[in-house]
Amino acid sequence: MAITSCPSCGKPISDKAKQCQHCKLNFGDASPEDIQRKANFEKYKKLQKLQNQSMMAIVLFLVGAYFVFLGNFENNETGVMMFNGSVAVATLGFIWYGVNRARIAIAKRK
Ligand SMILES: [Zn+2]
Repeated sequence: MAITSCPSCGKPISDKAKQCQHCKLNFGDASPEDIQRKANFEKYKKLQKLQNQSMMAIVLFLVGAYFVFLGNFENNETGVMMFNGSVAVATLGFIWYGVNRARIAIAKRK
């Protein structure tokens, strides 16, 4: 008996199990190939989602960075607030991108 992971919830299950004991997904008579195919598809979808999020993070970073370096803020309270806001947006995008890169690396290794 080998241990595989549920294509739905990703938790470890027996490859002989007809149903996932964690999320109750019913495999019925699906062959291990079918389950593997479904798992690959889920992984593909997940990677696509992460890559889309990476793109959004880059855009967020670029928009923030654009305003930090090129924004013509007035030297008053509002200007400082807008500058700080731009720095926060760029930082958020940068961190978000890093997190997504790490998640993609982890998802690919599995
Ligand atoms: Zn499951």
